[in-house]
Amino acid sequence: MTKKCIYCGAEISDESVVDFCEKCGKRVWGEKMFNAIIQNMEEARNKGDLVSTNMAETISKSFSNPVNETEDEKFPAY
Ligand SMILES: [Zn+2]
Repeated sequence: MTKKCIYCGAEISDESVVDFCEKCGKRVWGEKMFNAIIQNMEEARNKGDLVSTNMAETISKSFSNPVNETEDEKFPAY
C-alpha cells in the first residue's frame, strides 16, 4: 500500500510517519518545525502509540507544548 500526501497527492514512502510529503510539510510548518514533528512522530511510533486517526492531535501537541513551556518560564503569570 502506498501512502499519498494529503496536500499535493504525491506518493510518499510507506515508512513515512506522516501523511504528507517532505516538501509540503516544510511549506506548512517550516523546515525546523517539520523536522521536529518528524522526530516526535518517529519517537511516538517507536513507543507503539501512534494511531493514524490521532495524527493531527499528535502534531498539534508536539509543537504547542515546547512553545508554551518556554513562554511560561519567560513570563510568569503574576
Ligand atoms: Zn505534498
